[in-house]
Amino acid sequence: MNFKQPLTAVFGQPVAENPTQVMMEAAYRHHNLDWRYLTIEVAPADLADAVQGARAMGFAGFNCTLPHKVAVIEQLDELGTSASLMGAVNCVVRKGQRLIGENTDGKGFVRSLCEKVDPHAKRVVIFGAGGAARAIGVETALAGAADITIVNRHEGRGRELADLLNNRVSAQCRHSFQASFAAWKGDFFISPDTDIVINATSVGLFPDADARLPVELDSLRPNMLVADVIPNPPRTRLIRDSSDKGCPVIDGLEMLVNQGVIGIRYWSGVDADPSVMRGALENVFGKPHGSGTSAVP
Ligand code: NDP
Repeated sequence: MNFKQPLTAVFGQPVAENPTQVMMEAAYRHHNLDWRYLTIEVAPADLADAVQGARAMGFAGFNCTLPHKVAVIEQLDELGTSASLMGAVNCVVRKGQRLIGENTDGKGFVRSLCEKVDPHAKRVVIFGAGGAARAIGVETALAGAADITIVNRHEGRGRELADLLNNRVSAQCRHSFQASFAAWKGDFFISPDTDIVINATSVGLFPDADARLPVELDSLRPNMLVADVIPNPPRTRLIRDSSDKGCPVIDGLEMLVNQGVIGIRYWSGVDADPSVMRGALENVFGKPHGSGTSAVP
């Protein structure tokens, strides 16, 4: 008999509405892993003690959501390449006595992308320049994109991300890559040579589910793949409008599920079934469910 389950968790504040436990424990059950995934409220002032506690109790790993993605770095022993480039960690992995910081947000997105299209040599437009856009920009560049245009409401943040991609990320790319910033005034016209369009802003997140991303709808063409990071609701206005235009789409649940699949592989070595995890989340998001940016790791 063994009554001691391996432990994993998410640390955040606020965290009560974070649904990650639902999909992770659904995967654990499906793969006969007697593991637990705990949802733990950790105040910024308690983060160091919480990480120390996770070390002491032998956690296999944990996710970090807002506001801990940057602050957790100084509690860790090492960073993976993309977490180091982004300066943000959302997944901590225990290797022996060491805690390694990884970032699975962008990797989860790229996994969803690769199921639909090869990002190699593609031209990409990303709306937003916050944490999600940063993670997606870095991983999409590393995955082979040729050109990324960052479109952001506040210019300083947008230029900072374009500079990060040009100065630090492009040095890691073995292919030709460039990034630029484009100002966002009124409805943005997407250039016809764009292959992939990504909403990485929080526009459309519950409860503002009908909010419209300022994009000129007629500039969306059926050859463009359109992705949205918003997991709640998954069928955002952008996803609906793009489908109506004949564009293939990727919704925010796909990214959320795939970053969870990558986390489970880091912690347990098991390749979790994404359809089981998505089904568990759809049960949750099928009902009206409040959530903020803390809703995902
Ligand atoms: P941040 O707060 O770091 O960034 C928010 C971004 O949205 C900024 O670029 C901001 O622009 C932009 N923005 C907000 N409101 C508007 C608006 N009205 N018009 C135009 N731009 C706007 O948040 P994150 O990057 O961490 O998260 C963004 C979204 O991504 C959240 O909704 C979150 O739920 C989702 N997410 C989904 C994941 C998934 O797995 N599906 C994973 C991680 C995040 P500005 O800089 O001008 O303020």
